[in-house]
Amino acid sequence: MTNCIFCKILKNELPSARVYEDEHAIAFLDIFPFTKGHVLVIPRMHVATLVDLPQDALCGLIRAVQNVSRLVMAGMKCDGFNLAQNNGACSGQTVHHVHFHIVPRYDGVPVEWMPHKNLYAPGEMEEIAARIRGVRC
Ligand code: 5GP
Ligand code: ZN
Repeated sequence: MTNCIFCKILKNELPSARVYEDEHAIAFLDIFPFTKGHVLVIPRMHVATLVDLPQDALCGLIRAVQNVSRLVMAGMKCDGFNLAQNNGACSGQTVHHVHFHIVPRYDGVPVEWMPHKNLYAPGEMEEIAARIRGVRC
């Protein structure tokens, strides 16, 4: 879809710190992370919400989400993660190309969920993306 930010990221028309790609999905760092290493996983197909996605594409997407979760756990050395997925403006969805959030979490470390903002120092985003991308599972 021409005016979709995530479709532009998919086509490399906008830059992103990419960490994963396969035939169904790609993943890249969120620019306003809840914690460092917060990743978005999106299908190659443009649809707005989870219920719009054909089930074959959904299977591919959720497999990618599990693959990327493993990369994030190993790359960020986190103790766990939150998986979040918003559908519709009322739910807080701001980019209307379906996506999953993977947010790294650490034992005893609370997260301030709002507002989310840029937590990265210059160059740090690419360094963290390389760490996640470089994991060999
Ligand atoms: P939603 O609120 O729709 O579930 O999540 C959309 C997410 O996309 C937000 O967390 C926001 O920070 C992120 N985001 C918005 N624009 C961009 C962008 O241009 N690049 C990246 N990497 N993330 C974006
Ligand atoms: Zn799109």
